[in-house]
Amino acid sequence: MVRYSARGCGKKQEFVNSYKFRVNANGKSVDIWLIYRCKKCKHSKNLTIYERTHPGRIPTELFECFMNNDMETAMEYGRNIDFLKKNNAEFK
Ligand SMILES: [Zn+2]
Repeated sequence: MVRYSARGCGKKQEFVNSYKFRVNANGKSVDIWLIYRCKKCKHSKNLTIYERTHPGRIPTELFECFMNNDMETAMEYGRNIDFLKKNNAEFK
């Protein structure tokens, strides 16, 4: 269970995987996030996967998965404790 403080709720809440990615490509720099949502208020939080990364450093196949909101890929990140920890998730 992943917890964050949600602005909408004003306290720590459980956040769930939306299985949606957000890709922001800006010339030679790409940001990719996995979107989590507060279970109660739908407030969202973007968990950073890639930050200001050169597109050439992201495997093409993986990039396609992000673009297509690939469910399997989203689930993999959702199970990746290191990834969640890096995004300051609290566990309970
Ligand atoms: Zn909330």
